[in-house]
Amino acid sequence: MCIRIFSRDKNAYPVSSILAKFYLLTLFITLNSCKIKEDDITSGKKVEEEIIAIKNVTIIPMTEENEIIENATIVVKNKTITSINKTIPEQARIINGKGKWLIPGLIDMHVHNLNELAFNEGYPTKGLTDIFEKQHIMTPYIVNGVTTVFELSGRVGAFELRNKIVQEKIIGPRIAIAAVIDGAGNELVASTPIEGRQTVRNAKGLGYRFIKTYSDLTPNTFKAIVDEAKKQGMKVVGHIPRAFINLPAKDFFIPHFGLIAHAEELSSNTNDFSYEKAQEYARLAKENGTWLTPNLSNIVWILRQSKSLESIHKLPTFQYVHPLMQDKWLTSNSYHRNASKSPKLIPYFQELIDFHKLIVKAFKEAGVPLVAGTDTGISGVVWGYSLHEELELLVEAGLTNQEALMSATRLPAIWLEIEDKIGTIEEGKLADLILLDKNPLEAIKNTKAISGVFVNGKWVDKKKINTMLSDLAEWNNVNREKFKWKDRAKY
Ligand SMILES: [Zn+2]
Repeated sequence: MCIRIFSRDKNAYPVSSILAKFYLLTLFITLNSCKIKEDDITSGKKVEEEIIAIKNVTIIPMTEENEIIENATIVVKNKTITSINKTIPEQARIINGKGKWLIPGLIDMHVHNLNELAFNEGYPTKGLTDIFEKQHIMTPYIVNGVTTVFELSGRVGAFELRNKIVQEKIIGPRIAIAAVIDGAGNELVASTPIEGRQTVRNAKGLGYRFIKTYSDLTPNTFKAIVDEAKKQGMKVVGHIPRAFINLPAKDFFIPHFGLIAHAEELSSNTNDFSYEKAQEYARLAKENGTWLTPNLSNIVWILRQSKSLESIHKLPTFQYVHPLMQDKWLTSNSYHRNASKSPKLIPYFQELIDFHKLIVKAFKEAGVPLVAGTDTGISGVVWGYSLHEELELLVEAGLTNQEALMSATRLPAIWLEIEDKIGTIEEGKLADLILLDKNPLEAIKNTKAISGVFVNGKWVDKKKINTMLSDLAEWNNVNREKFKWKDRAKY
């Protein structure tokens, strides 16, 4: 409706010297008409929010003390946890939680969602296009209890996706979005400190609240970006630029560099894969207040497919991957191609995995907060499913089950500065919850034993999860022939 009013006015007022005024006027009419529509909805036919209570459940709240609440009753109303162990409102729908466990919804701190891609050489009308059906892209997160994600290659489409979720047109996770700034290439580019500072301000103006630094920045541009982000109240996650290789590690641990996007940033910086080196990084990170997303699953998957594409073929969750990506992962797999040309890569990837586990151990010992992230979008690393794999790898590397859970709940909520709303199970928090059939504190793989998920207060039970998954698998199967990687320029 808003769009129609916009275009009618545009026809009524041809381009003229009062262009600016015209746009302001049109914008006013557009916003005003949207407002009326909104009021109609809120005044008239607003549907009462359902009240849901889970009874007799064991709550693992993931607060700092994490005191387990056994045989608990929890009430969810208006997207919020309204009470724990208090009276159940009469009209509440009851879910039997006997023999089940309740944990906060999970947070993946490193994702790349399928949004717009620069394929369209056939141009209507040049630039990025979006061929992906949004619910299909979000379903794997929801069925896995991943209720918040950190998008680390933000573009305009990421905001569109987030708006669709906020408007409840589709069901998906909460999305934090980082703008990528690099020294060259296809992202926001800054090659001098002055450009770096201006790019941060531009990103803020476009609506971003996080900055991701990338590999081709010069050391001084990197430093200027991080400093400007601090001035602008934006947090910084990122790569450590390649230009720091052979420089002392203390040079890139600079104030306000808040989160390293994967342990690979550290292993790329050295040939010394000793525990002492991991401890040096941990000490510097601790002193500087820099957190780490270890991101163990991406290298594990890079190694697997470097050895053989069978690992991708046999992936049980492959059916939930968009057919275009299925085709890319099999027919244009750069990891497999590179390893075929340079077989030495295979033992090197194994060394990386071993060193990254040492890094996790050293960071844990130094008391540096670790947050779980997967780099999902990398071939083999399937959206939603990969976070459970990451948690298992973090435990293999030395975290306790509770610490692994903390890395995907309370800690990332703190880093994203939304811990007043999500990340723990407490009265007043938003209802992002996972009901589990098995206890994840006994075995971390039990996070996969999902009985149902609350996504922003909306209950998605096992039956609904199964339907969503079979619909997705069927759509992917039916449309397989329509999406071929070699034809991507036509889409
Ligand atoms: Zn990434």
